[in-house]
Amino acid sequence: MKVCVVGTGYVGLVSGVCFSDIGHQVVCVDNDQLKIDKLRRAEATIYEPGLEELLQKNIKQNQLSFSKELSASIKDAEIVVIAVGTPANEDGSANLKYIEAVAKEIGQHLTSYKVIVTKSTVPVGTGQKVKGWIKEQCGEIPFDVASNPEFLREGSAIHDTMHMERAVLGVETEKAAQYLKNLHAPFNTHLIVTDIETAEMSKYAANAFLATKISFINEVANLCEKLDADVTKVAETMGFDPRIGAAFLGAGIGYGGSCFPKDTQAFIQMGIEAGYNLKIVPEVEKVNFEQRKRLVDKIELAFSDSLKGKHIAVLGLAFKPNTDDMRAAPAIDIIPMLLEKGAKVKAYDPVAMDRAMKIMPYVDTAESWQEAVKEANAVVILTDWKEFKEIDLDVLKSKVTDPILIDGRNVFDPVEMREKGFYYDSVGRKKMS
Ligand code: NAD
Repeated sequence: MKVCVVGTGYVGLVSGVCFSDIGHQVVCVDNDQLKIDKLRRAEATIYEPGLEELLQKNIKQNQLSFSKELSASIKDAEIVVIAVGTPANEDGSANLKYIEAVAKEIGQHLTSYKVIVTKSTVPVGTGQKVKGWIKEQCGEIPFDVASNPEFLREGSAIHDTMHMERAVLGVETEKAAQYLKNLHAPFNTHLIVTDIETAEMSKYAANAFLATKISFINEVANLCEKLDADVTKVAETMGFDPRIGAAFLGAGIGYGGSCFPKDTQAFIQMGIEAGYNLKIVPEVEKVNFEQRKRLVDKIELAFSDSLKGKHIAVLGLAFKPNTDDMRAAPAIDIIPMLLEKGAKVKAYDPVAMDRAMKIMPYVDTAESWQEAVKEANAVVILTDWKEFKEIDLDVLKSKVTDPILIDGRNVFDPVEMREKGFYYDSVGRKKMS
């Protein structure tokens, strides 16, 4: 099929590249000229494993191209996918200004029937708004709108798209359903065909549930600490039950990233606007933020409550491994708390340094974990990168001033840490000192 994807961020770029790789003819549009220039040179604009290879392959095979011009790019497209950002407004609701701008631009340049699909995460009712925005521009030219929310995870986005467990197709007409079925046919995945509102709701419900799972296990972890139990074993036991499932039961410093924090807020706001106040999700958010503060408390505790002048090496800034995405990363909350308490922070991340420094230019950085930990009074793990899991603990011990490791991601084994002579505190497990 001929597909135009509007927005080449984490979702649009990955979707466009994958659609081209399964045989569709794809043009990706973005209004950021620098991104388009880079993508035309087959250089990935985000860090995502496997992305650049597929980008190069499909550009070379003329399956994939990039443009800043929406009007020319949608001309021949049968499907136009909207994948622009939907950031949070001050009250937490989703800001639809980018969606509105794109919908109106599509309407202005529509010349023949197309299915306009919203892939961005948008509140229930947005599909109807998109229809209105397009229609007010294009008059009688026929089109259908549809909702096809995205479930990929950053860090494994290519794999998640190529091997998607399901796709939800929110449609109003049989014709639109057929177009979207054809688009997804090569993925050979389970298709859930429903109305637009249900598809829109599915995305928020899924993300709110996953966020709830994380906050739930973090609460269990906090209780484990009080009662001398080990949350990793509790989670393993729970996870073997197919009614629960093992994923998202890793206790730590709470969720971050571009989706869960903003989507839970938008979900709460959607409830308020619809006259139903959600009760669980606001608590999920509170637990999530408390978890950051608890880690800072653990660091303070290691120094009998004063961090003044202490050199803290922070390992990991991205909100999770295998991505350079810093949006709502726990590091953005935790590092300022440490600085406020008088600590000196030296931070290192394998890929997110550039993005992190745009957000926290005041933070001292290192080129490697070895440099970050040099003469540190404590090492703090904020992201469970493989590189940190593989740290030689003897080498680490030889570089630091004090062998204190506070592990926000339960990367190391507490017993081994004690044997190596570390003061070691993690989340939901016994403290070793
Ligand atoms: P992003 O900010 O990385 O990318 C958005 C892109 O849209 C940018 O490149 C921007 O330049 C472009 N854009 C904005 N206005 C435009 C316009 N008028 N014309 C052309 N391009 C325009 O965002 P993202 O992370 O890819 O997220 C996009 C949507 O997908 C959001 O609604 C998000 O909630 C949702 N989502 C994200 C993820 C994720 O892991 N990032 C997963 C599932 C769903």
